Amino acid sequence: MTDAKARGLLVVYTGDGKGKTTAALGAVFRALGRGLKPAVVQFIKGKWKTGERLYAETIPGLVFLTMGRGFTWESDDLSRDKRAAEAAWEEAARLIGSGEHGLVVLDELTYCLNYGWLSVDAVLATFEQRPAHVHVVVTGRNAPEPLLDRADLVTEMRAVRHPFSKGLPAQPGLDF
Ligand code: ATP
Ligand code: MG
Repeated sequence: MTDAKARGLLVVYTGDGKGKTTAALGAVFRALGRGLKPAVVQFIKGKWKTGERLYAETIPGLVFLTMGRGFTWESDDLSRDKRAAEAAWEEAARLIGSGEHGLVVLDELTYCLNYGWLSVDAVLATFEQRPAHVHVVVTGRNAPEPLLDRADLVTEMRAVRHPFSKGLPAQPGLDF
């Protein structure tokens, strides 16, 4: 890419506050408007149909994959979680490397890194080798230090208040 200002960025949305996945989906919305052909890979079990998944199905050409078998504490078979994470990562790496998508969102990828299902070094190597125009957005709590070091943009969502503490349940359309 000749224009250094137009290079693809590595973006990380992390922290304990709400808004990480929402911010990434906002970038997808923008990228669609700019013809960047965004792709999303969610590294969580597709247990519930979320609003974003339901809407993604109606957007022609939008790649929106939800994989994995959920979180460890819900699982009876850790090795299956690892295999699912590896399969999702394989697909994500292919999407990134293809250069066909100007924006690739890896939603909740940090969980797979923190559980050791995926190697941080291998993930960073794939980011490093990606086509120069591809933006990558990673979301999830506790982003590992080497990923933060490598990122061009890091935003940490800080939890100031969340309705969960009042016992209010997750709201359709706002939370999922
Ligand atoms: P969102 O998808 O709403 O942008 P997120 O990606 O920042 O949230 P996750 O860690 O992925 O947050 O958790 C997703 C779910 O957990 C959402 O329903 C969200 O409302 C809820 N959540 C996020 N932060 C908090 C918090 N500090 N306390 C309680 N629940 C939270
Ligand atoms: Mg999230």
